[in-house]
Amino acid sequence: MQPQIILLKEGTENTQGKQQLVSNINACQVVVEAVRTTLGPRGMDKLIVTQNGKATISNDGATIMKLLDIVHPAAKTLVDIAKSQDAEVGDGTTSVVLIAGEILKQLKPFVDEGVHSRIIIKSLRRATQLAVDQINKLAVKIDKRSPESTRELLIKCAATALSSKLVSQQKGFFSTLVVDAVMYLDELLPLDMIGIKKVQGGALEESLLVRGVAFKKTFSYAGFEMQPKTYKNPKIALLNIELELKAERDNAEIRLDNVEEYQKIVDAEWSILYEKLDKITQSGAQVVLSKLPIGDVATQYFADRDMFCAGRVPDEDLKRTMKACGGAVMSTVHDLNDSALGTCQTFVEKQIGGERFNMFEGCAHAQTCTFILRGGAEQFLEETERSLHDAIMIVRRTLKNDAVVAGGGAIEMELSKMLRDESRMIAGKEQLLIGAVAKALEIIPRQLADNAGFDATNILNKLRQKHALGHTWYGVDIMKEDISDNFEECVWEPSVMKINALTAACEAACLILSVDETIKNPKAGEGGPPMGGGMGRGRGRPM
Ligand code: ADP
Ligand code: MG
Repeated sequence: MQPQIILLKEGTENTQGKQQLVSNINACQVVVEAVRTTLGPRGMDKLIVTQNGKATISNDGATIMKLLDIVHPAAKTLVDIAKSQDAEVGDGTTSVVLIAGEILKQLKPFVDEGVHSRIIIKSLRRATQLAVDQINKLAVKIDKRSPESTRELLIKCAATALSSKLVSQQKGFFSTLVVDAVMYLDELLPLDMIGIKKVQGGALEESLLVRGVAFKKTFSYAGFEMQPKTYKNPKIALLNIELELKAERDNAEIRLDNVEEYQKIVDAEWSILYEKLDKITQSGAQVVLSKLPIGDVATQYFADRDMFCAGRVPDEDLKRTMKACGGAVMSTVHDLNDSALGTCQTFVEKQIGGERFNMFEGCAHAQTCTFILRGGAEQFLEETERSLHDAIMIVRRTLKNDAVVAGGGAIEMELSKMLRDESRMIAGKEQLLIGAVAKALEIIPRQLADNAGFDATNILNKLRQKHALGHTWYGVDIMKEDISDNFEECVWEPSVMKINALTAACEAACLILSVDETIKNPKAGEGGPPMGGGMGRGRGRPM
């Protein structure tokens, strides 16, 4: 009898081989099922309720994937590529998951039949390389010579990004705002210089773009109403100082045994506070912002001197004000000179819906702007914010890279055709594998048509015919329930987005195909239920 070799700790789960690969692919399919209906202008939204009861409505692939809280180790890869697509490009998150899932699905029969993963991976890499080269070849450079035509082009791009979102009815309105916002930024187009604030109530069309920094009025004390609310070219002090009486008392322990000494302490507190206030006033600042509270004494002191103050300004707003208006955030009042003070053309406090807003416009130091979104429900506003983020990213991308391809499945159909033609010239197994990738790319037009309620088979047949005849940009036309030249329809997408989506999807698929064994240490899943007797389903076990 052979001695039994125990290699792994008792209770370690260990699945391997072809079966494991197939089970991983199946898990990815489940994830794809969860997001596939959200693709495209007629895609559906998902309502996701998280553990703490917070409900989110979204159409954004990355958001949905993040909220799904997937535990399956292989399927998590798809979440990662959605996230990376979101971070890299900001759009195309649903597409990337869909393509990766479909590639795996098309390649599954080969895995089943025992084709070695390495061969599959090699072909997949080759197919991706061919596709990327083709995108680069097909991409159309847009003409940016005149600012007006650039602007128009960008608006069309933004409108395409928004047409698949909850705010598609207002896409004309928002695409102009988005393009204005992005074109207002300086050359590097820093994303953090666009702020988005949400105010519940009012109609979506009442949303506005402030060319500068804006934030909600902070909590204020009596006396605030007497402060002026508009300034021209004010000097702005940005502080990290508490302007309240009790401030010093918290910093030290003091032992007293008579009333006179107590009085001295109180007097000292007042004089310290007044000293700070005097210094601020002497610096010439007219608008005082602080990260820490500004109390009632200070508020009234400033009001008497026609100065404006706001305490407890959120850190990110203070930083943006600093970047936009210049100056520095000071933790002492001793060196408050002109170089530490910021300035802008106008400062106003304005009522917007039920909220008051502090707005700094005409900032010299950095181009920044702020969206103030209006609308009904909170979830609706949040989804609007995410949609605008997508559109902003697209416009930024188009401004930075000037090549676009036609969307609506047009580029995918063209790539699919190219790969199919190419595969026929290859002898051996690779022919079939590259053919499978070609088939997988058709998922995008198919799903777009499906989601809009069209007959996908019919649409796809028409598209295949058009592409075979050399009409490169034919894609699904959502409006006409047919196909049309999407380049002329201005359904455009930056070519980087498609390249990124393809390479990310390929990498994810390769990663999943190259794993043939999962070993799970019983202690690895901390807090999880003990594994055993069928409990492990969906956690790397065959399904
Ligand atoms: P993603 O998260 O991948 O960006 P979307 O829901 O934004 O998903 O859908 C994007 C897809 O919808 C792209 O393939 C794009 O080409 C397509 N699309 C967008 N607008 C239109 C349109 N007006 N007609 C046809 N297809 C469109
Ligand atoms: Mg999109």
